[in-house]
Amino acid sequence: MTLPEDWFTEIHEQAGCAFSLRVRERLHVEQTPFQKIEIYDTSDWGRLMVIDGYVMLSSRDNFLYHEMMSHPMLYCHPAPRRVAIIGGGDCGTLREVLRHAEIEQVTQVDIDERVTRLSEIHFPELCEANDDPRARLLFDDGIRWIANAPEAGLDLIIVDSTDPVGPGEGLFTESFYRDCLRALGEDGILVQQSESPIVDREILLGMREAMRAAGFANLHTLFFPQPVYPSGWWSATAARRAGGFEDFREHDVENKPFETRYYNAAIHRAAMATPAFFQRETGQG
Ligand code: SAM
Repeated sequence: MTLPEDWFTEIHEQAGCAFSLRVRERLHVEQTPFQKIEIYDTSDWGRLMVIDGYVMLSSRDNFLYHEMMSHPMLYCHPAPRRVAIIGGGDCGTLREVLRHAEIEQVTQVDIDERVTRLSEIHFPELCEANDDPRARLLFDDGIRWIANAPEAGLDLIIVDSTDPVGPGEGLFTESFYRDCLRALGEDGILVQQSESPIVDREILLGMREAMRAAGFANLHTLFFPQPVYPSGWWSATAARRAGGFEDFREHDVENKPFETRYYNAAIHRAAMATPAFFQRETGQG
């Protein structure tokens, strides 16, 4: 079968499925020292960023991912002040974190400066908080950066990474999680995008195992829709050394002084609910 040229298609060979978006034009293509970045203009989904053939984000639905990577765990932490984002070069997660007035500093560490520079051009709305004085944008390997981060200096680490291939591979390992644990304060939380619960089951379960082996006593995987990612159903896995994930600052969510498009208190509770099969496989309550 030949694929029509005016469609961008990401084939998930192992899962036996594919996802396509109709494109008008490829606006940019570039091989950086780390990865191949492509930007498309689509007919109905706005701009599309693709890295090494994998869809990263579209203008139309990235709010789901960026809100769910940031707000649930920011509201689970009793008093978050210092945040690190590993990856996240499109800056959408950074923008969401900076909506929280109590945050004092966010350090974003993406290995590839070109992702951020291209986002500034093609996704300017995601980069509108980049000049916030609380934002620190570093371009470095997140694995190395976290290994050298001061002990207990962070309240929340958000791993907004590519899939576990190429430069992102080391972000899914026990030794990386060990370094994250050391960099987190007592109430600290690690949250990482953990792929599709339906087509990337092995990756997700492997991540949870590695996090536990690294010393994180409590884990919780949350779920949300993401139309442009394989299967349309995505997850993030949170981990902390002590304390559970049952409580969140619900009153603060109800009274948050900024707007969200997806996240609210009901979505928080819904996203934290565990599907029956996942409960059986992991014991998550
Ligand atoms: N939401 C996207 C997804 O799940 O497909 C991820 C978006 S974000 C663009 C992913 C970023 O991770 C990329 O900009 C890439 O450069 C960055 N990245 C990959 N490996 C990294 C590493 N070892 N250290 C820091 N950033 C890394």
